[in-house]
Amino acid sequence: MQRRKDPDPQFILSRRGKPIMEFLKHRYIKHGTSIDGSKVRWVCSSQSRKRCKAVIWTYNKAIINGSYKHTHPPVTK
Ligand SMILES: [Zn+2]
Repeated sequence: MQRRKDPDPQFILSRRGKPIMEFLKHRYIKHGTSIDGSKVRWVCSSQSRKRCKAVIWTYNKAIINGSYKHTHPPVTK
């Protein structure tokens, strides 16, 4: 099994205090967690505006699964 070496996701808070994850120059917003909170679903922050379907799952702050197909260029510098 080959694994691409990706940079680690960055976990930050928005100005309104909402959790945000930055990964590969895209920004994701928290969209739900498992019952114990260890597994988090993140959706692209442009989901509603750009109809973007990109989604990432993290477990204990490590990416375990995801669909990175964005319908738009990266939003962060
Ligand atoms: Zn997107």
